[in-house]
Amino acid sequence: MSQADAEITTANGQHHRSTTRGYPKAARNELSILRLIHAEPMISRIELARQTGLSAALVGGVVGRLVGKGLVVEAGPASTTVGRKPVSLSVRSDSAYLVGVDVGSFLTRVVITDFLGRSICATETETRMAEGRSRVLGRTFETIRKTIQDSRLPDSALKGIGIAHSGVIDSERGVVLSFPRPGQMTEWKSVSLKQLVEQEFGLPVLLDDSTRMMAIAEKFFRKDRKLRDFLFISVSMGIGAALFVDGALYRGPGGFAGEFGHMTVDENGPLCCCGNYGCLEALASGGAIIQSVRTAIQKGVDSKVRDLTMEDLDRISMEIVTRAAAENDGLAGRVLHDAVSHIAVALADVVNLLSPRVIILGGPLFRLAPQLITEPLMRVVKQRAFEKSANEIRLEVSSLGSEAAALGAARLSAEAILESVYLERV
Ligand SMILES: [Zn+2]
Repeated sequence: MSQADAEITTANGQHHRSTTRGYPKAARNELSILRLIHAEPMISRIELARQTGLSAALVGGVVGRLVGKGLVVEAGPASTTVGRKPVSLSVRSDSAYLVGVDVGSFLTRVVITDFLGRSICATETETRMAEGRSRVLGRTFETIRKTIQDSRLPDSALKGIGIAHSGVIDSERGVVLSFPRPGQMTEWKSVSLKQLVEQEFGLPVLLDDSTRMMAIAEKFFRKDRKLRDFLFISVSMGIGAALFVDGALYRGPGGFAGEFGHMTVDENGPLCCCGNYGCLEALASGGAIIQSVRTAIQKGVDSKVRDLTMEDLDRISMEIVTRAAAENDGLAGRVLHDAVSHIAVALADVVNLLSPRVIILGGPLFRLAPQLITEPLMRVVKQRAFEKSANEIRLEVSSLGSEAAALGAARLSAEAILESVYLERV
């Protein structure tokens, strides 16, 4: 095995060295270097030589062949070095196009990206989970088809589909094992989503948890791309976490790491959809926040939410609750305060356990009301976590928008099909 192979890990935490074992050495080096260029756009030949341990001359030859095959382009001077600036390299953006899909509780989003991960076309539609799985899937397929059509790309340009779905996901087999949301447990039990989408579109498909997909997008599309270790927390209708360690997503041996939402924060608390009592998700998710506000209003508590929903309590959303809280509505403010306290208590435990330096907060709760949430969250974490760990934490709200999970899904798909794109040009 060449030294080049030994260094390669990508966002999904896989070590790619084993996949090249049967290849001639030249092909192994080309594939390994292509992966590095894909993982780190604007990388220079010097940096490639440093990371692979290969000689500058060898790297130069490999890069020349990748340029000749139309997979890599020179992209201008690299910005990070002093003195004479080396030329930076990038994968060719039109080497492959990917579909990223996020099946969210309220909205299903579809993006088409180029090989660099730039969105070239996007569509969203209402998920309408309550209509049942087969209708949701039918609508999702229709939205994917429409987005492909809108992109005007020839079918042959599309190389893969990545899908983000909430719940407990077996990403290796591409199965939604369960979707702990009210009314959805039987609809989404052991659904081979990967296989269903592959049959429909005839493209390689991968499936993963939506929080992980958001974290992957955060890793690759944030300004500070050098960040290699961080904890990502998302609060939407569910609550999840993803941990990046040394540049790779930590999945745990069984692949189920990150079930932050099902940490017990009150053992006498309400029943969670997963079957346990007092999970964080049952107390502080978007679903729990909306339910608390609705119940209080039904009991007669006065709130601006009543006006904002025009008396239709089925229309209560995270947007409406955070807007009411920003306008000093007592009920909305109290419910959000309680949710943030629960999240902070659980997060303090995680901080003590993992001692992360950077925690990135994603999902609608943080996106809609960063000023209402972040400061109180940090205060409670600092009160409860060990001082040494807590003082060194940087808490950030993700700068990515609501397309994050779909973009992450497309990115992960691009990594998964990179080898076949390379093999097409051999
Ligand atoms: Zn639970």
